[in-house]
Amino acid sequence: MHDVVIVGCGIAGMTSAIYLARAGKKVLILERDTIGGQIASSPLVENFPGYKSISGSELSNNIYEQVENLNIDVEIEDVLKIEKGDIKKVITDDNTYECKSIILATGAKYRLLGLENEENLIGNGLHFCVACDGAFYKDKVVAVIGGGNSAIVNVNALSDICRKVYVIQNLDDLTCELSLKRQLSNKDNVEVICSSVVTRLIGDEFLEGIVIKNTEEREIKLDGMFISIGLVPQSELASNFIDLDKYNYILSDDCKTNVDGIFVAGDCRTKKYRQLTTAANDGTISAMEAIRYLDTCK
Ligand SMILES: Cc1cc2nc3c(=O)[nH]c(=O)nc-3n(C[C@H](O)[C@H](O)[C@H](O)COP(=O)(O)OP(=O)(O)OC[C@H]3O[C@@H](n4cnc5c(N)ncnc54)[C@H](O)[C@@H]3O)c2cc1C
Repeated sequence: MHDVVIVGCGIAGMTSAIYLARAGKKVLILERDTIGGQIASSPLVENFPGYKSISGSELSNNIYEQVENLNIDVEIEDVLKIEKGDIKKVITDDNTYECKSIILATGAKYRLLGLENEENLIGNGLHFCVACDGAFYKDKVVAVIGGGNSAIVNVNALSDICRKVYVIQNLDDLTCELSLKRQLSNKDNVEVICSSVVTRLIGDEFLEGIVIKNTEEREIKLDGMFISIGLVPQSELASNFIDLDKYNYILSDDCKTNVDGIFVAGDCRTKKYRQLTTAANDGTISAMEAIRYLDTCK
């Protein structure tokens, strides 16, 4: 019997595990795919305190080393189902585990365009997060794909550092708030192209440009591209017994869900900013709340 089973071995899940193990709790982390989660695929991180510059895989490995040093159990298994109760059951593709508490740290995935070679170009000219990677494109030419609020916030930020920013929107107008649209109209280095979809990414190892299509195709040379068409929370596991918001993020109050003894941390929960540091922050809070829950349940 574990005190806590953590679903997801990203930054949030590993941070939770470190706090729990150091408090003497018996912890198991279950991960279905990659240790480190989303950041493991990023070639460069420059906004994690303590490191001027580090690759995502090295950062993940460093944190994982801490997890290993604390003798925390980690299994590569896909969690398929959770049964709530005083003793909870976590059912994977291989095993059933019993535990007193659960932390859901299942993260989120950026929505992709569905184009050939897209996944290979992530981090190599193709990005999602302007706060993370925008600074690499000072005085360069970039495109933002999308026309909603987060896309246009990204465009505004990039237009302050880039030589030129293209905005490619599939609908016939931007769908962002009017105030954001007004800010755009004052920028002479921004070109908005509506009613157009990206049909092809140019570049094998590194993104060199895109082909967009309205009635005719047009090729645009780029140094970088930011896809801003939303995130998909990995919350399907919780969907039939935990409250979610309308976008399927797990609702929480200080990382506590509506189910006793089940906590949530990281990108899969409702919050405004999804970053490494906020994932680590949630890892800490969820662990502290789980420790409190376990100690008062004794
Ligand atoms: C390319 C890229 C670059 C980025 N760069 C930066 C940056 O420079 N700075 C920054 O602050 N942020 C950056 N981010 C965002 C940052 O990576 C995330 O905010 C952060 O990693 C979220 O951590 P997490 O632990 O909440 O979730 P995740 O990293 O998504 O981890 C969740 C884990 O849970 C696992 N999981 C999900 N469901 C199950 C299940 N049913 N069973 C078992 N396991 C499951 C997943 O496989 C995944 O490994 C970047 C993101 C990407 C994609």
